[in-house]
Amino acid sequence: MSKMLRAKMAGNARVESAKERGIWPYFRPISSGQDTEVEIEGKKVLMFGSNSYLGLTNHPQVIAAAVRATEKYGTGCAGSRFLNGTLDLHLELEARLAKFVGKENAIVFSTGFQANLGALSSLTGRNDYILLDELDHASIIDGSRLSFSKVVKYKHNDMDSLEAKLQALPSTAVRLIAVDGVFSMEGDLAKLPDIVSLADTYGANIMVDDAHGLGILGINGTGTASHFGLTDKVDVIMGTFSKSFASLGGFIAADNTIIEYLKHTARALIFSASMTPAAVASVLATLDIIESEPEHIKRLWDNTEYARKLLEEAGFDTGEVSETPIIPIYIRNEEGVFSITKRLQELGIFVNPVVPPAVPPDATLIRFSLMATHTFAQIEHAVEMLKKAFKEEGIALKEKQNGNI
Ligand code: PMP
Repeated sequence: MSKMLRAKMAGNARVESAKERGIWPYFRPISSGQDTEVEIEGKKVLMFGSNSYLGLTNHPQVIAAAVRATEKYGTGCAGSRFLNGTLDLHLELEARLAKFVGKENAIVFSTGFQANLGALSSLTGRNDYILLDELDHASIIDGSRLSFSKVVKYKHNDMDSLEAKLQALPSTAVRLIAVDGVFSMEGDLAKLPDIVSLADTYGANIMVDDAHGLGILGINGTGTASHFGLTDKVDVIMGTFSKSFASLGGFIAADNTIIEYLKHTARALIFSASMTPAAVASVLATLDIIESEPEHIKRLWDNTEYARKLLEEAGFDTGEVSETPIIPIYIRNEEGVFSITKRLQELGIFVNPVVPPAVPPDATLIRFSLMATHTFAQIEHAVEMLKKAFKEEGIALKEKQNGNI
């Protein structure tokens, strides 16, 4: 390795130091399916860090669909959608998704990350502007950077800040507001009604990344825009299949003109292989279940309300902004987040540690997320273990951190 490259790698001291102290909490290998209980290093661990909100990744109907598609089409498409990688199955999924979210058309990508890269890099050009909430997902930020447009960030969910930015931009340029429908680490919703009203006033366009809203919010899980009754006011809806849809892949839904444009300009689509047959078929099966069995969404919300109640009663600092199955538990220092994650894992509870750059340094947190398939008993046990871990690690709960007592 060259000296220069070695010096660059040494910049990763933060990782090395946490590893040496045995508290590095990432890349933990799981030896079972992504269910409410998983196996890690031979031990059963309760999963409270999954994005499989509806708990459908092990549903027999979904697995059967994936197996059938693999038997019929094989394991891969060996090419991009643009060339030899389009199956009739992809087209069927696109038609279903467009109908599901209430848009004219849709195009699927191999991951949600790529959907954002592909769309944001090509929708706007050199003289245009993309306006981002400062807490937008990394894939929105990276897609915007690839666009050659000027990127303007506004303060999180702060409509005065967004308006001030819009006021300063030329009305002749495309101004695309790209925002998470549900913020992925904090679980709060974008203020879509206000964003729509500002976009109307200033002639801007809106793209909503609904990775965490689809499948859980809105009529039958049709997402954040539908939750607010604003589907027609949102120009572009992005979704991923790696969360409620129990698979892998992503999509953009919009009117025909935008989708046709993306099909011929989005490099993350044209120059990358298409979704595997099993992945496509799993999403189709998941859509069938979401549309015919509303009880999954109901159970998810019951679990969410129950967990939120227990966590708040116990005095954890949840920030009180989350309106979704993503419940942040703020610790506000990285060391504390790592040691709690490790202790919880020893106590048989899996949670996700969230530190910069995913969140600002003073907002480090444990991301506690619910699935429809959790039982109340599992949730009660997890909250008890959280209390135990905080006590044992000497980490203060909300009142003390805020200096209120
Ligand atoms: N957008 C948001 C808000 C996300 O949370 C994620 C995944 N963490 C993505 C996009 C990327 O989706 P995928 O996992 O399908 O690449």
